[in-house]
Amino acid sequence: MKQKMGDVQKIRRDFPILHRKVHGKPLVYLDNAATTQKPRPVIDAISKYYEEYNANVHRGIHALAEEATAAYEGARSRVAEFIGARNSAEIIFTRGTTEAINLVAYSWGEKFLKKGDTVLLTLMEHHSNLVPWQLLAQRKGLNLEFIPVTAEGYLEDPEGMIRRLRPKLVAFTHVSNVLGTVNPVRKLIEFAQTLNPRPYTLIDGAQAMAHLPVNVAELGCDFYAFSSHKMMGPTGVGVLWGKKEILEEMPPFLAGGEMIREVFLRESSFKDIPHKFEAGTPHISGVIGLGAAVDYLSALGMENIRRSEEKVLEYAFKKLEAVPGLTIYGPRNSADRGGVIAFNVAGIHPHDLATVLDQDGVAIRSGNHCAMPLHTHFKINASARASFAFYNTKEEIDILAEGIERAKKLLKI
Ligand code: PMP
Repeated sequence: MKQKMGDVQKIRRDFPILHRKVHGKPLVYLDNAATTQKPRPVIDAISKYYEEYNANVHRGIHALAEEATAAYEGARSRVAEFIGARNSAEIIFTRGTTEAINLVAYSWGEKFLKKGDTVLLTLMEHHSNLVPWQLLAQRKGLNLEFIPVTAEGYLEDPEGMIRRLRPKLVAFTHVSNVLGTVNPVRKLIEFAQTLNPRPYTLIDGAQAMAHLPVNVAELGCDFYAFSSHKMMGPTGVGVLWGKKEILEEMPPFLAGGEMIREVFLRESSFKDIPHKFEAGTPHISGVIGLGAAVDYLSALGMENIRRSEEKVLEYAFKKLEAVPGLTIYGPRNSADRGGVIAFNVAGIHPHDLATVLDQDGVAIRSGNHCAMPLHTHFKINASARASFAFYNTKEEIDILAEGIERAKKLLKI
């Protein structure tokens, strides 16, 4: 493995799927915001677990169980280091970002929020950082408020909203999965911390982890949620990072085996974090795969990844802006953007565009990208979305742009 950024073709060799053909054309995979592809070391780490030391974790005292536990807990330590967590007990393995946010809503929210409290979200949230709060608000009588989004795709006066509304919790995305906006997380958290009482902060990091260096200690948030499958790891695994002292005060979310200390017929006591929040047999191979993904990203270096993606993004902007009738949503400045460009071509439904591009082997996404309120805000039903990873090339952007032109001719607009 141990690739260095700079030689994209060499990096691409680590990803077996990038060499397949789709409808007889080389695959151009531009749906990385939905899920990224997996490099060989991640695939191998998962196979190796099943081929050589498959066993349940934390339970057995036989060799296989000990090896599996060491690999599982080793991955936890590497994930902690990767995101700058002070303590690996602060890493809770979940099924993904969605479950991580639900964990906070059901556990922290149920205990610490009360009728009349305000939860402040933004208009650009993915449904997974919206619907859990809607359900909690209905159960507890909370106020949900939303930071608006400007026409350019930035949060509008977030500090003013926080100052005026005095929320108990501010929960927002690090990088928008539609606009691509990289929100000023650190600045907003610093501001929130000047208030008394200070709001708690939860960051949805699903679209940040594979694209930006993330250090939770530097950001200063209380919770940070992300998904393995959007950062070169397998599906079915994600992480909730939380500050130790907060996690310790929270009641369990799911209950069952593995999370208990002692069980009596009518009550039980619970293990310390992180195990208190990991009921039942976890996704062992998934966690091991995530550990390998983190090693892979670390070897490339997140600063390097960010720099190289910015170049591809700049190039994509140049090419797409030159297409007559094409509207791009979100910030123009690539420094304020993650690896996402959502757009519409006048007169073409994004589903039709995606269908024509698929014939060229180009995978993009079309729809509302689980951000219906944001699309409503921009007065559109759907958009097309090309989203990038460090293995994408300028040549692939050319193929995308040519495909869009072909779609325009084919659909006669
Ligand atoms: N938040 C954002 C910003 C996302 O892009 C996504 C995935 N599209 C999610 C949350 C949900 O992630 P998952 O489906 O892996 O739980």
